[in-house]
Amino acid sequence: MIKLSRRLRSMEESATLAMSRKSRELKAAGKDIISLSLGEPDFNTPQFIKDAAVEAMNNNFTTYTPVSGYDDLREAIVEKFKRDNGLNYTKDQIVVSTGAKQSIANVVLSLIDQGDEVIIPAPYWVSYLEIVKLAEGTSIVIHADISTDFKITPQQLEAAISDKTRMMIFSTPCNPTGSVYSKEELKALATVIAKHKQLIVISDEIYEHINCAGKHESLAQFPEIFDQVVTINGVSKAWAMTGWRLGYIAASKEIADACTKIQGQFTSGTSSITQKASIAALQADPIVLKDMIAAFKERRELVLNALKKMPGIKTNVPDGAFYVFPDVSYYFGKKFNEFNIQSAEDLCMYLLSEALVAVVTGEAFGDPNCIRISYAASNHVLESAMERIRIALEKLQ
Ligand code: PMP
Ligand code: GLU
Repeated sequence: MIKLSRRLRSMEESATLAMSRKSRELKAAGKDIISLSLGEPDFNTPQFIKDAAVEAMNNNFTTYTPVSGYDDLREAIVEKFKRDNGLNYTKDQIVVSTGAKQSIANVVLSLIDQGDEVIIPAPYWVSYLEIVKLAEGTSIVIHADISTDFKITPQQLEAAISDKTRMMIFSTPCNPTGSVYSKEELKALATVIAKHKQLIVISDEIYEHINCAGKHESLAQFPEIFDQVVTINGVSKAWAMTGWRLGYIAASKEIADACTKIQGQFTSGTSSITQKASIAALQADPIVLKDMIAAFKERRELVLNALKKMPGIKTNVPDGAFYVFPDVSYYFGKKFNEFNIQSAEDLCMYLLSEALVAVVTGEAFGDPNCIRISYAASNHVLESAMERIRIALEKLQ
């Protein structure tokens, strides 16, 4: 038997990808599964972006690129930060990677040593904790619940900081809760962060454009913490480009250089064709996304209204991203046939078998009372998924 590394054995498989694999397998076996497990827009990549990719290939942009990304792409990212976020970076503060997931991994691996503490507000995105484990850091999870719209308070942050704290990782808009921090809430966190200069904060803003609350607010906007913030973003969500694999960071030059060094040994940078296509996406006026945002808003209402009709379900109103994260603990202890629901994980398995709907357990996101429903699907698909869930829940006694 092959001996796997301790590092690998300590890691969990990504719960989101695991559930999507399971539903793909069941579909291939002929089951009529509706998958609301993966955070992936169901729109196609806009044609002008595909055209830019074809043009890049035809112009032979098909060789290795600079490790941190083509100059013109990083210039376009600098302009994007000015235009959308009022942030002033230079090109050498930007590193482009193979998805925001790799961007986050680069930063964590660059800064975290064994035993360094990383504060992760829960509910969190599944991969943060596992990436910290890979770096042999210690995650310090702080819990926020529905009573504060799943957002942490400055007091909670202050209380979690110790001599060993090096980093915090969070997302706004948040995956999985859809919560969006307001400017005032971010300012209050910034006041705490500014007092602890050893603290670097990864602000994952990949859902920036999928925001019903209005203007997106970046954590890096507060000058007193500008150098402490690493802003993460990418093209996967807003531009329906999950398969193209492009994410990026904006950070202090020291951190950007460190990420480039790591990436130079791991991937040599992301695809040349994707990079050229992404310039087209980043230079487009985000106003062109308004139809997509309107569609997500409508879907959110549909899912929230459907959930209201299910007894015992509690939910916040998610302002951003495309997830709802209902508390389903009312169903714990209930049974149907051979199913005895003791946890969110049990409920997900029950919904997969009985309703043929795939959703993800909240345990993977740090809240064992909840499940995550992705509403990146058409109204028609969502209507039938929610009806199936309602019927399945009704059977539980
Ligand atoms: N951050 C968050 C909060 C996410 O939901 C995702 C999922 N796609 C990512 C980062 C990674 O995105 P990608 O690697 O596709 O750019
Ligand atoms: N981020 C998406 C999600 O949370 C895609 C899956 C993944 O990258 O893990 O579902």
